[in-house]
Amino acid sequence: MAAVPPSDAGDSLLSPSGAGRAPPRKSCASRLHLLLTAALAVATSYLLLLRTPLPAAPAAAVGIARPLAKLSKPAVILISSDGFRFGYQHKGPTPHIHRLIENGTSAATGLIPVFPTLTFPNHYSIATGLYPSSHGIINNYFPDPISGDRFTMDSHDPKWWLGEPLWVTAADQGVQAATYFWPGSEVKKGSWDCPDKYCPHYNGSVPFDERVDAILGYFDLPSDEMPQLLTLYFEDPDHQGHQVGPDDPAITEAVERIDEMIGRLIAGLEAKGMFEDVNIILVGDHGMVGTCDQKLVFLDELAPWIELKEDWVLSTTPLLAIRPPDGMSLPDVVAKMNEGLGSGKVENGEYLRMYLKDDLPSRLHYSENYRIPPIIGLVEDGYKVEMKRSNKCECGGAHGYDNAFFSMRTIFIAHGPHFEAGRMVASFENVEIYNVISSILKMKPAPNNGSASFPGTILLPSE
Ligand SMILES: [Zn+2]
Repeated sequence: MAAVPPSDAGDSLLSPSGAGRAPPRKSCASRLHLLLTAALAVATSYLLLLRTPLPAAPAAAVGIARPLAKLSKPAVILISSDGFRFGYQHKGPTPHIHRLIENGTSAATGLIPVFPTLTFPNHYSIATGLYPSSHGIINNYFPDPISGDRFTMDSHDPKWWLGEPLWVTAADQGVQAATYFWPGSEVKKGSWDCPDKYCPHYNGSVPFDERVDAILGYFDLPSDEMPQLLTLYFEDPDHQGHQVGPDDPAITEAVERIDEMIGRLIAGLEAKGMFEDVNIILVGDHGMVGTCDQKLVFLDELAPWIELKEDWVLSTTPLLAIRPPDGMSLPDVVAKMNEGLGSGKVENGEYLRMYLKDDLPSRLHYSENYRIPPIIGLVEDGYKVEMKRSNKCECGGAHGYDNAFFSMRTIFIAHGPHFEAGRMVASFENVEIYNVISSILKMKPAPNNGSASFPGTILLPSE
């Protein structure tokens, strides 16, 4: 069957997908209750910085950081290639990425995203070291249950974006930052006011080579104006992954193009004599899994047990998020849905399980925020949920699933004076990256969900 792009393809910055629906109206009494819950949630989310134990305690890097030849201060370029599933780096010839791997430090079995494995929650976790329950970006689209305001990928109001991203930490501590696109970078917080010179507004039509050249241009500035923290974002291969799934020649092509951009960056830095001075950290935000129309669960098939209204369902797939109206028993809704799903009478029902958010596995860290809807469904790898059956045939790719699925893993590849050459480390969660970059740039990190000891396990010490 020919692959047909799904209608909701893509949630990279370039190609937003609609996931949300209008929030139900709240009564005054329930608003007060929510307000109190919210205040408590915000307070506790900062106090309870819950941590997931590292998969393995890696040994420290061997040696010390190499001295800088040309730069007067350390520099980090943090690059995101959206939807770069772990393993894509072996799909075709990627000589430049492999040069970074061979002469740098990388996660042998990939970088673990946070749940939900979606673009905005993960980019902001990388930038803040916080789980979505703490940084507040709990989905790509969501309504605020108190105000009814809606967060979208164009929302730059600081009220949505909690925590302290790297560029704010930098600005507050007198370290120059430049963001050539990153979710949250256009939000004015602390001393960071997104200055034109260092913080271009997101424009998905800017060609990738132009973005790389802009990053290189910053290294021509006088030393006191040269940024030490730089971010660079590419929408690919997420864009292609949604359309054709992870196993398609279009992905191989997109990955080779990202490799070319890495090659362009390396060559540009080499021409300035700065390549060995700059720490390059190449990551993705999540992986990608193939989806097809035989792997669907239709919520309207649950009608004999419970009739789910469309406006209760805030997002369907792969993150099923439900907020029933006030007065309904939440445990009752979960129980009836699970009874139907387990009855054998709902197609693929056995691949979806519903939870009260407080009963989700604690490793997901997805309950301690009032913005998270009270009922969450976890669907098996590669399955999707829809309100009702339609005639469209769709095969493509998706992400947003449980972050324990290997298909959701992405890459961590780092090269530079602070990274030991040819070293592989165990997989770790992306909330560790904030402390790693803070350590390289000698910044005092804001409180976060990463481990204070992690940078010591992955970085070469300064002296
Ligand atoms: Zn993404």
